[in-house]
Amino acid sequence: MEYEPVIGLEVHAQLLTRSKIFCGCSTAFGEEPNTQTCPVCTGQPGSLPVLNRKAVEYAIKLGLATSCRIAPYSLFARKNYFYPDLPKGYQISMYEYPLAEDGFIEIMVQGEKKRIQIIRIHMEEDAGKLKHGETPETASFSYVDFNRTGVPLIEIVSGPDIRSPEEAGDYLRKIRSILQYLEISTGNMEEGSFRCDANVSVRPKGQNEFGTRTELKNMNSFRHVEKALEYEIKRQIVMLEDGGEVVQETRLWDVNQGITISMRGKEEAHDYRYFPDPDLVPLRIDESWVEKIRKSLPELPDEKKERFVRQYQIPEYDAEILTSTKSMANYFEECICFFPEPKTVSNWMMGDLLRELKRDEREIDQCPVTPKHLAEMLSMIKDGTISGKIAKDVFEEMYRMGEFPKDIVKEKGWVQILDEGEIEKAIERVMDANPKQVEDYRKGREKLFGFFVGEVMKQTKGKGNPKLVNELLRKKLK
Ligand SMILES: [Zn+2]
Repeated sequence: MEYEPVIGLEVHAQLLTRSKIFCGCSTAFGEEPNTQTCPVCTGQPGSLPVLNRKAVEYAIKLGLATSCRIAPYSLFARKNYFYPDLPKGYQISMYEYPLAEDGFIEIMVQGEKKRIQIIRIHMEEDAGKLKHGETPETASFSYVDFNRTGVPLIEIVSGPDIRSPEEAGDYLRKIRSILQYLEISTGNMEEGSFRCDANVSVRPKGQNEFGTRTELKNMNSFRHVEKALEYEIKRQIVMLEDGGEVVQETRLWDVNQGITISMRGKEEAHDYRYFPDPDLVPLRIDESWVEKIRKSLPELPDEKKERFVRQYQIPEYDAEILTSTKSMANYFEECICFFPEPKTVSNWMMGDLLRELKRDEREIDQCPVTPKHLAEMLSMIKDGTISGKIAKDVFEEMYRMGEFPKDIVKEKGWVQILDEGEIEKAIERVMDANPKQVEDYRKGREKLFGFFVGEVMKQTKGKGNPKLVNELLRKKLK
């Protein structure tokens, strides 16, 4: 029997406000533990929360950017549970009345657009952070850091529309890209400002009802999300094929072993005894504020992609990659200013540039080759100073040293040979050394032409102008 996975994702993203959601404490990352706390965020009796307007504005931005309906009335609720990193004994979140509902985003699946529904977006506060002496199992004590307690989060809940681990990865990258375009979150998974839980089940292909799902936690990179889902899907299928049943539960992804482990039975909403927070008034958002925010939205990834295709006449595939992050799109457009041949720029960015960055796990903002560097090198290829082949070496050198291509070419003596006499001499040497091939070629084995081009390029150490080499070779070989 063939099975199909059904995946829904819950993303928590930290909003880039300077202060926490219900108090004035700083949200800066990496400060000394417990230096950014006050009576409100540590749950002292008698303290009262006051909502951060900026956090609401950011959440509305995301709601609009994902085509959600912004609720004119939403309500903060207490989600009650005990954990040492939660000083109040409850988390302020939203339950029955979330801030935004019923939107979608689009991802590309095998060249086709696919809509993933956004069921809801709500606001909540983050909990603190426990630091265990060694591992939670062996430590004799643990520390708690409340700096993160009360940092504003948005939770984005997708519909059960995702059908493979790759789609899950694409969905997450798209959400992160939108957050970064809006400049409302860093989307940094390593620092914990972008986290994801996954609900996953499998069902026989063609069946409408969903199977029993498990919830996966503790995946702190895109790669781990995909790997954890792959593992969990296989585990569930094997279990069903053996005549077993999937148990509804929460499972942890174990990075080291590459498996998911049962953590606890799945908790239900009623376990949390949600009720409206009596310390906070309902949140009423008037239409004029929403409209003002709508007008302030920047160009988003999908719009930018469409514009790139239209304005620069590049393939949709290129545009998709070039607009995947704001900084990549900016790099591309800056480079076009200096060298207005979009497809050439795109080819170099998607080829050599991204390959190098991927190898070093660097983001494009950390790229030693600036748009100006790249544009200058492309101009040098165009005016014949260097060949496309040498350019590959120039690029590598630029990437390593961060120098301008003109300086590299000068220093290395890589200027292309445009002197006909010099190329002719090289051709003569090649012909003298290969009389048999010359004879065969003249008898009609035209395939040998490529061999001669290669040999002449070897003779000129790759510096012969390919166009000239071709022309002169045809003449000489006649
Ligand atoms: Zn505080």
